[in-house]
Amino acid sequence: MGQTTRKFAIGARIKRLVIPGFANVNFPLFISQNTFQFSTMVKALVTTVIVIALTLISQLGGLAWIIAMPFRRRVIAFILAYITLSVAAVWIAPKFGRVPLSCFDSGSLAMQSKMYCALNRNYVVPELKEALIDVSTAMSDKYTGTKTLVLDANFPFLKGFPLLPHLSHDDGEKVDLAFYYRDENAYLPSQTKSPIGYFAFEDGPTVCPKQTLTLRWDMAWLQGGWPDYQIDETRMKTVLQLLVADHRIGKVLVEPHLVEQLGTQNAKIRFQGCRAARHDDHIHIQL
Ligand SMILES: [Zn+2]
Repeated sequence: MGQTTRKFAIGARIKRLVIPGFANVNFPLFISQNTFQFSTMVKALVTTVIVIALTLISQLGGLAWIIAMPFRRRVIAFILAYITLSVAAVWIAPKFGRVPLSCFDSGSLAMQSKMYCALNRNYVVPELKEALIDVSTAMSDKYTGTKTLVLDANFPFLKGFPLLPHLSHDDGEKVDLAFYYRDENAYLPSQTKSPIGYFAFEDGPTVCPKQTLTLRWDMAWLQGGWPDYQIDETRMKTVLQLLVADHRIGKVLVEPHLVEQLGTQNAKIRFQGCRAARHDDHIHIQL
């Protein structure tokens, strides 16, 4: 169809509006080419936003949405494509240098939430996986029943692709661990203060000034909602000692007031600075 003919065809789509009592008067409503172009643009914009958001959250979600687009039942097609891509990544990612941390392991090392697995945020380089298994095994050997919980790690593919909001988790060599918690009676295996392991901050002195535009979130409004757990100082101290003693681990980030409280000062344990997220709700580790 030529450009002129097509234009006419769109411009000439007429709907008849019949108002009761004016049966013999018809009002033509024209759907103009401008309206058609506007709705096409809006659809393209919405698709772009969905693809970018899914890619930022899960890396493979955006691609799954693109695959699902031609299908009438798009959500079902998306879910099937996403599951297929995510399962395939378990086998393909190792060829590009990253391996998944087990989502089903009931041993001493586990992902804190299945959400991290569902979003493909559980990949690391093999050396880091070995170091994590060794540290968690040493922890459970020393304190029977201790579970070491992994939070955000890395996506399966592409060096330089950050796992937001952790800008540095972009090469498979970084991972976050949950704190070990206890109540007034005993250590609480596999439990964290917050449902996702992050954002339950331990308060303490800081040199950082209050700023509004910063990644150093305090989330004061959330803090009252957490259960009344304390950090398990014995396990926290031991895990930090094990990490710094491991030659594969290059750097550990923990907030200075906790390092002071635990007495674990070491050249490998650093402060992340005032512009990055707080590290008194989790431990950051990197090779
Ligand atoms: Zn981190």
